[in-house]
Amino acid sequence: MSSHSNAQTLLLLPGDGIGPEVTAEARRVAEIVAPDLVLEEGLLGGASFDAHSEPLTASELARARRSDAILMGAVGGPRWDGAPRDKRPEAGLLALRKSLDVYANLRPAFCFPALASASALKTALVEGLDILIVRELTSGVYFGQPRGIETLPSGERRGFDTQSYTSGEIRRVARVAFELARRRLKDGRGTGARFGGVLSCEKANVMESGVLWREEVTKLHQEEFGDVPLTHMYADACAMHLVKAPKDFNVILADNLFGDILSDEAAMLTGSIGMLPSAALGEPGTPGLYEPVHGSAPDIAGQGAANPCAAILSLEMALRWSLRRPDAADRVWRAVDAALAAGARTADLGGQLTTKQMGDAVIANL
Ligand code: NAD
Repeated sequence: MSSHSNAQTLLLLPGDGIGPEVTAEARRVAEIVAPDLVLEEGLLGGASFDAHSEPLTASELARARRSDAILMGAVGGPRWDGAPRDKRPEAGLLALRKSLDVYANLRPAFCFPALASASALKTALVEGLDILIVRELTSGVYFGQPRGIETLPSGERRGFDTQSYTSGEIRRVARVAFELARRRLKDGRGTGARFGGVLSCEKANVMESGVLWREEVTKLHQEEFGDVPLTHMYADACAMHLVKAPKDFNVILADNLFGDILSDEAAMLTGSIGMLPSAALGEPGTPGLYEPVHGSAPDIAGQGAANPCAAILSLEMALRWSLRRPDAADRVWRAVDAALAAGARTADLGGQLTTKQMGDAVIANL
């Protein structure tokens, strides 16, 4: 799908805070590794609210749907915290994910060799770490109805949310996890890990949706993926194991809520949140949504101090998964690796480079 006859389109939605700073560096990289790619730029989140009183306009959404891939920065910030829930920057992001139906969130946790000592864990535990978390992104407790805050007859207030999953929602995201695990094992990634294929998390011990999750994942495994090892684990046990022996995992499959928490935990294993990209994918042929795992970092916004690597590596994922340019993706990956190996570091990694200088260091290694 593209608005231009043959050319592929990448829509940049820089967003708020450090979003525009880090996406500018990703844009410079894209212009070098994929010069024929049509780059468009639009508004999302607080930036869109300021211009149009909406965190995501209908025309921006339409443009997103027409593009081949979308690269976001981050949204949100204290300036918009007082806005009504449906006008807040995060509402724009959730609406974009929901409308594009990008139900599978891929969050790699990869430890670049040069950064092994920057992890909160002992170097030996994270050296060579290469795991992938597949999180369900468009259903579960963040979207389930009914939800709300009500006042009870007693005068006490009650807040409630609904955790709900259909078998179809579970199966489609589980299929992505199995397919990725199969491909990774073929590439020799995660082959020696204790839970070498897919490790699926839920709380089947205390939640009905967890029981269904476990049953459906097991069924799909028996039907289509018998060659990929499958392990089930309660999400709380997984959280513990992830900091005890992260290299035991290969692909972790989780629902929206548990996946949110586990992937942030995994982020800390690799040194800095400023290094971590993510992808959100829907059905084949629909545009994927790519974004750094980090937020808009209002504490450092405007200072030119943000690490652009997560944004650059999000571009790398877009080149690989939506734009089908594995060579360009490999080039970006190697350049980041080489820049780090040569000692390039922003402040979050203990260095002094500005956002732009870090971008320069990556570009110099392309
Ligand atoms: P955050 O990720 O923005 O920041 C957490 C910490 O990490 C901060 O100290 C920040 O300075 C640092 N950090 C983040 N990215 C960095 C980078 N690239 N380089 C160097 N340091 C970096 O999370 P937060 O502070 O909880 O949230 C801030 C705002 O971002 C909130 O409004 C939140 O809602 C929003 N947010 C948006 C997204 C998104 O757009 N997908 C995700 C998370 C948070």
